[in-house]
Formats: sequence, C-alpha cells, structure tokens
Amino acid sequence: MSAVGLLGEIAGVGRGRGGYSRHVFDRAEGELRAWFAERAERIGLDVETDRNGNLWAWWGTPGPDALVTGSHLDSVPGGGAFDGPLGVVSALDAVAALQAEGFRPGKPLAVLVFAEEEGGRFGVPCLGSRLLTGSIDAGKARALRDQDGVTFAEAAARAGFDPERFGRDEVALSRIGTFLELHVEQGRGLVDLGSPVAVGSTVIAHGRWRFSFSGQGNHAGATLMGDRHDPMVPAAAVVAAARRIASKVEGARATVGRLIPRPGGTNVIASTVDLWLDARVTGEDRVRPLVDEIADAAGKAAAEEGCEIRLSEESYGGTVAFDAGLREELRALLGGAPELPTGAGHDAAILSGHTRAGMLYVRNPTGISHAPEEFAEDEDVEHGARALAEALRHLST
Ligand SMILES: [Zn+2]
Repeated sequence: MSAVGLLGEIAGVGRGRGGYSRHVFDRAEGELRAWFAERAERIGLDVETDRNGNLWAWWGTPGPDALVTGSHLDSVPGGGAFDGPLGVVSALDAVAALQAEGFRPGKPLAVLVFAEEEGGRFGVPCLGSRLLTGSIDAGKARALRDQDGVTFAEAAARAGFDPERFGRDEVALSRIGTFLELHVEQGRGLVDLGSPVAVGSTVIAHGRWRFSFSGQGNHAGATLMGDRHDPMVPAAAVVAAARRIASKVEGARATVGRLIPRPGGTNVIASTVDLWLDARVTGEDRVRPLVDEIADAAGKAAAEEGCEIRLSEESYGGTVAFDAGLREELRALLGGAPELPTGAGHDAAILSGHTRAGMLYVRNPTGISHAPEEFAEDEDVEHGARALAEALRHLST
C-alpha cells in the first residue's frame, strides 16, 4: 500500500484528454470517495462523512486534540494527478507504515479528505473547510451554482447529503488539535533548493472576483462598429489591466482563466460576458487595492462601450503564516528541511485561523501545477510519505 501504488489505483478516474476533471459530487469524485473509504477501512480506520461532505477516517476513537492529516481528491478542470490526491495517499501510506511497525498513537489520529478544495465546480475554493469552520455562510454556499445552473444544495442532495446541515461544525472542529497537510509543490521552489520535501511557511493573500458585463447582443455583420455595445470589449480591458497593473506591484499575480460570453456565437456580438479574476499578492494584504485598480479600468472601459458592469467578490483569504512552533518541530524532525512560502491556497490555510495547522510540500520537477504536466518522481513521493509518517509519529505521542 505504497503512496505510489495508491496513486496508480486512481490514475484512470476522471482522466480526459486534457488532464483530470474530478469535481465535487460528480461521478469521478464519487468514485474517489468510495475508493478512499474502501482503502481506509482496509487498514482498520473508521470512515465517516461530516455535515459538510468532508470524509474522515479515524485511527482510534474520534476525540479532542486529534492529529489530523489529509488533503483533497477533487481537481481543477484539466488538472494534474498529484494536487490533492498526493496528500491523501501519503496519509494512508503513513498510517499503514506506522501500523506495520506496531506503533500506537497517543492521541486520536484521522485522515481527512476535504470537499471542493479547488472550487472547480462551484467557484469558491476550500468550500469544505470554509463550511466546517464557518468562514462562509451556509446559505451562500447552498446557493452557489455550477456552469449548468445546478446549485451546490441540489448537487449535494443528489449525492445523498442533506444541504440543510451545512455550516460550522463545532463537533468536528473541536476534535482537531493539529492539522498537517502534505501537498505537491506548485512551483519550482524545491527544484531550486535541491530538496525533496519542504515545510510550508506562508500562504499569500488571494481571492476571486466575478466581473459581469452586459451590453446589446446583435449581428456581427450588420452592426456598424460605432453602433455597438459589446461587453467583450470591457472584458478584454480587464485581461489587459490585470496584466499591466499586477506587473507593476511586487509579488502580485493576477489571472483571468475563465470567461463566458453569452450566447457565445462566432457571428454574434455577445449580450453578456462573465469573467473571473484570480488575484494574489505576497507580503501584507494588498490584494483588494490591486483589484480596485483593475475594477476602475474595467468601469471606464464599460462606460466607453455603453455597457453595464457588476463586480462581486466570490472569495477572499488574507496572508496566512502556519504555526511557528509546528514549523520548527517539523523542520527539526525532517533534518532541517527548508521552509517554503506558497502562492497557492489550501484547506490548511483556512484551518490555521481555527487550529494549529502546517504543511509539507513534495518536489515537483516541472514546477507546473493545475495542468497535466504537474508531476512528482516516485522516489520523492515515497520520501514525502516517509516524512509524513515521521511527523505523525512525533506529533501523536
Ligand atoms: Zn490542492
């Protein structure tokens, strides 16, 4: 039951030509949930699903001050094989390795799989951990819609969950003494440092904003250029402003990765365009001022084109520094492993506002993530699982 072997077992699930698409409550994700439960039960863990659709596998009786480790099984659209699943298979591998040597944890230990970490279906990232901690309103979460107009509540109900029970889960939250998430690195930090594993230091402030432009749908050939109210024009201004403005701010990244024109015909001027801006800045929280500047440019472009603009913040998380004591313990335990900041968001960052939390990263030789090229060598995967086992041994005694 090596981490590499476990990854191999799910390699075919949700895989398409353009990478993996495993979204909360869809068929592939359901298959992964069943696989996880079966695999966890096989090593004697008790599997339960909490009120928010997160999966827990307990080694010992669930209780307070538990040591919890895990990650997520969902992906972005067209994602890689490691983002999320690596933390889950490493946790199962580490628990099995500790069991095999007769180790008995001195406190309850659980493997946790968070729901909808990527926000790949309903737009808000870390939805499972945000609901668990109460950092998103349950009613707002229930009303989120996927691309087909299905609400999160409807999708949950179809998958056998009761959406009325969504919301801050005091019982589950009070059990977590420490949360440790292992994750594939999503940049080239470890390649440059020449190390297979690092301890997470900080997660940069980041958020997602939705720009909705409406204009006048019309004929692409019959409408003179001066007569148009084309919402694609201010949408394009957002893309250009995001690049221009973020390039001037040190440590900033701004991305438009999703844009939906409606009705979406080649010979049709769109009547509406929705686009999503992902913005992040290192250091102090300077994300909202950056987005304000981009929004100003968008507002001017919309006015010039005679279009309406609506802007809404879909998610936001400030800069997070993982628990300093835990970082020190992990570094000492892993032979002085380097510390690494990340530009990616994680459930561990959401939990860090509520409990002691930390992260381990495993080297990704391509430095590419959220794409099929995301990778980790078998040797590094095994190294990561062993490092996690060491951490669990140390932190649970
Ligand atoms: Zn992830």
